[in-house]
Amino acid sequence: MAAKGAHITQNEEIKPSLFEVLAADALDTTFYPAIRRVVDFLAAAKPTVFGRCVQFYDELYLLFNGLVQGYYLQRYGGSLAEVFYGLTRQSMGRSEGTFTVRERNLSFVMLVVLPYVLRKLENLITRWRDDLENGKPVSAERKALVRVMPFVKAVYESVKLVHYVSYLAGASTVHSPLLRLLRLSLTYHAEEEESWSLSEVFQGKVRIATMLSTALLRWLELSAFFLQFIEWWQTEANIGDLSKLPIPDAPELDINAAKYAGICPVCLQKPIIPTAISVSGYVYCYRCIVVHLQKESKCPVTKYPATINDLIRVYTDDDS
Ligand SMILES: [Zn+2]
Repeated sequence: MAAKGAHITQNEEIKPSLFEVLAADALDTTFYPAIRRVVDFLAAAKPTVFGRCVQFYDELYLLFNGLVQGYYLQRYGGSLAEVFYGLTRQSMGRSEGTFTVRERNLSFVMLVVLPYVLRKLENLITRWRDDLENGKPVSAERKALVRVMPFVKAVYESVKLVHYVSYLAGASTVHSPLLRLLRLSLTYHAEEEESWSLSEVFQGKVRIATMLSTALLRWLELSAFFLQFIEWWQTEANIGDLSKLPIPDAPELDINAAKYAGICPVCLQKPIIPTAISVSGYVYCYRCIVVHLQKESKCPVTKYPATINDLIRVYTDDDS
């Protein structure tokens, strides 16, 4: 440890390049929109199954991000994106490789909770701004927040830029204001990766848990790369299949649909002046359905509430 301690003072070799730390930051911000795109795609294809995922996407992502970042912070001392680029977090100004439990918890808040809260706040502010623009009443505090937000963002972006420049110039050991707040910096991952050969697996020398965790790590890293690729594909080419939402499956047939195919469900004859009720889609003779609706305000087959205003004339090949 003493030998290592000599390197605590600024050592160019243990400080990652600006491009590496920026790449890790960029990868971190890729996950949210990329997974969102996959969820949107699924929801468009199967609205009944995945529709809710879109509605609660922020919460779903919070859960996913929490599990993943929690695992990486616990095991490797960095976010998924940082570990992907071979980086890890360490306390500033203390002995090399230190990463306390408190710092880990704060990192978790910064990586998982903070982005969620900011996203929710941003949504709220966007809504208030829309209300303001549409002339709806907005309270004074909300109005003030809507006005102040762009300046807060601009100031934060400038602070970030100053950090990048001073990091690049070697004047600072940390490239991000948030990391500085937590008194953390990024360094290269020192630990040797766990590796094992196939023969060791067959001899039972490798524990199942080790194998599973390595497999999970590889899978996450591969998907990280894949998601970044999707993001690039979307912005560069904008022609991917994912950008064209698929046509959802047609609604399923009502149980009575086959029974009344081609006939009026009231008189059971071929409909005369075929007329559909828009709430159910069933087709009747114009006379049959008008008489029925005058007595009962619902579709004779499905019993959905309906009035004469819900009738639609259907034009078929037989029209003369
Ligand atoms: Zn009829």
